[in-house]
Amino acid sequence: MKRHTNQVLNHALGAGLLALAMGAGAARADEGTLNVICGVQTEWCSLVQTTFARSTGIKVNMVQKGAGEALAQIAAESANPKTDVWFGGTGDPHLQAAEKDLTVAYQSPNINLLRDWAVSQARQARYKTVGLYSGPLGFAYNTELLAKKKLPPPACWADLLKPQYKGEVQMANPNSSGTAYLAIATMVQISGEDKAFEYLKALHRNISQYPRSGAGPLKNVSHGENTIAVAWIHDVPGEVMQGFPVKSVAPCEGTGYEIGSMSIIKGARNLSNAKKFYDWALTAPAQELGAAAKQFQLPSNRDAKVDPRVPDVKRIKLIDYDFEKYGKASERRRLLERWEREVNGANN
Ligand code: PLP
Repeated sequence: MKRHTNQVLNHALGAGLLALAMGAGAARADEGTLNVICGVQTEWCSLVQTTFARSTGIKVNMVQKGAGEALAQIAAESANPKTDVWFGGTGDPHLQAAEKDLTVAYQSPNINLLRDWAVSQARQARYKTVGLYSGPLGFAYNTELLAKKKLPPPACWADLLKPQYKGEVQMANPNSSGTAYLAIATMVQISGEDKAFEYLKALHRNISQYPRSGAGPLKNVSHGENTIAVAWIHDVPGEVMQGFPVKSVAPCEGTGYEIGSMSIIKGARNLSNAKKFYDWALTAPAQELGAAAKQFQLPSNRDAKVDPRVPDVKRIKLIDYDFEKYGKASERRRLLERWEREVNGANN
């Protein structure tokens, strides 16, 4: 009976009136809160949460999620979004969200303050996302464990296949982690798809675990629970600052890089707060919070201080990562399915 009444009501309201009712709800919801999915590591997320709240009085509800998980949640909630802003995490899933119309276009006045690659990320998505930071992929190893096990330090992607590293390597699971998806896309761009999958199958034999989050393998290296991690080079100085015996490597064959991005969710209930947050997150002081939280990406704001620990990309062989191709939803789905079928789920 109740369902029937709702159906009648819905028909009576019609699409226009429903939109109006939702709009009124949005205005009410906007008072003083903002719901954010945060894609960087928790220390930076917390600093963003408290600093923005302190300067605006807007309460930020925040959850930390890997980029693959964030994309899945935003897609699942699209009929009734619970998130206003998706802050950080690798750029490809942000582009995929834009393509699927899960995020809305917003041209912040602060876009003028950004480096070219951040603006081109925005243009590519017709302003449904924007670049926040950039940084190179590589790997890292625990110097003490390596010495104890009498293993040579790896220098190239190819080295990770050495039989002596069996059970010593971790990469995140690409279904949940944007880092690991970017690692697969990097391999495909370096050696072509079939060779890349041969590589991933061989690597699988040396992998002890595929942790859920991109940060997991490096944390495990720091804590001596794992020897070698596929990881962000810019995340390694933070581990060293905390006293962990970790060293980063820029792979000799070349490597991919991320354009960490930010998007406003379509149907955000707190749209005007979301725009305030977005504008703020593109300012130099907001972007300097990354280094304050010991995370050393290159900020997209040209005026943000560049910490000396930010990796010098002039000394790293970077590939010309094809964000357009690997930012496509169909490409991501296809590569993840192939990885499940031929690598993770197969008897290698
Ligand atoms: N980029 C940076 C700089 C990060 O710190 C993280 C997570 O901590 C990510 C990207 C993406 O994480 P994930 O691979 O779990 O999606």
